[in-house]
Amino acid sequence: MKPTVYYGSIIHGQSAHFASLAAKYEEMMTRLDLSTIAKGDKVAVKMHLGFRDGFQTVPVFFVRRLVKRVKEVGAYPYVTDNPTAVYNAVDRGYTQETCGCPIIPVSGVKDGYRYETEIGYRTVDKMNMAGALHDADALINLVHVKGHQTCGYGGAFKNLALGGYCGEDRWHKIHGVEDSAPWVSPEKLTPGHAEKLVSSCPCGALKYDPDKRTLTNLWHECMNGNCLECLEADRDVGALNLTQANFAAFQELMAVAAGKVLETFSSDKVFHLGFLLDITPQCDCPGLISPPVVPDIGIVAGRDIVAMEQAALDLVAQASLIPKMIPPYIKKTNLDPGIPLHPFQRIWGAWKDPYLVCSYGEKLGLGSIDYHLKEILPPEETVKMQEPNRVFERQPTFY
Ligand code: SF4
Repeated sequence: MKPTVYYGSIIHGQSAHFASLAAKYEEMMTRLDLSTIAKGDKVAVKMHLGFRDGFQTVPVFFVRRLVKRVKEVGAYPYVTDNPTAVYNAVDRGYTQETCGCPIIPVSGVKDGYRYETEIGYRTVDKMNMAGALHDADALINLVHVKGHQTCGYGGAFKNLALGGYCGEDRWHKIHGVEDSAPWVSPEKLTPGHAEKLVSSCPCGALKYDPDKRTLTNLWHECMNGNCLECLEADRDVGALNLTQANFAAFQELMAVAAGKVLETFSSDKVFHLGFLLDITPQCDCPGLISPPVVPDIGIVAGRDIVAMEQAALDLVAQASLIPKMIPPYIKKTNLDPGIPLHPFQRIWGAWKDPYLVCSYGEKLGLGSIDYHLKEILPPEETVKMQEPNRVFERQPTFY
């Protein structure tokens, strides 16, 4: 049977609470059935709390409601994220008082609360899983859906992979795996040719160190697929073997790493909720306020990480990219409607296929890319419904 993904659209059929996204969210949590969390369970609510000025994360409004639901089953929720994001979460409105539960650094205050975990993927043999996820009894994967510079898309897998391990693994091992697929032949790389390749790149992605005679690619800056200018400059030499495999490695490692986190839980104690609101081109790590490049869509939720991720990507694909919102520092976008690309590929490069992580997740047995989308309180229905009752604030009601 196909897994069900619940969907609540930002569009409502009436200007009334019963039809609104808040009401849909409540109904989605009911259908998810949090009762499989046991009384007394310690429940990790893993989310990104943002950095610096980056407040476009899952609104505390939804966090608080979820925390309340978890408490109603007699469990003990805590919100968790990387130590820095937790330390200054108050700057973006997340506190114990507003969330309704403690906020705990996922890997301890100095990244030392961690468990060495076998990964066994290409150059990455081991990573250190964050203790606050490893030791939890249940997991709520609370996800801000947005773009990502390196892999096109940041969602449910990324929240557990890059967000579920300590900092050095995130930045060096996961972000370094693109180099595990050899892409440059050093014997063909004369200093003169290297300089030619560097100057051919319109995005500043290529850097050459003449002392070490090494060429590096800043993969997050490389708009591959939308731009192949270095390969053109290399045509007669053949020093480069830049392919989609370099970018796919990042996605596959995300699936492997997230799968290791999920392995520490019983499958009936894991829930995924994706917020397709404030869909920024970049992930939450730069700590910036960014223009949304896709209109707000709504919320998806399910117990199957692959299905939820696939559904979120499909909904973004069906929405329109807003070209005027793409910031000018993102060069080489492909807005040609004749070329079938996902909106995140149009922004970050055709080789950064956001669906890859879903296929890898399915291959690992983490879920299914085939899903049943169940829309909750669709606007076409609520527009015809009788509003139960309406409370007007004619005097302070404190309702
Ligand atoms: S593909 Fe384009 S952006 Fe990427 S390194 Fe080559 S020239 Fe630069």
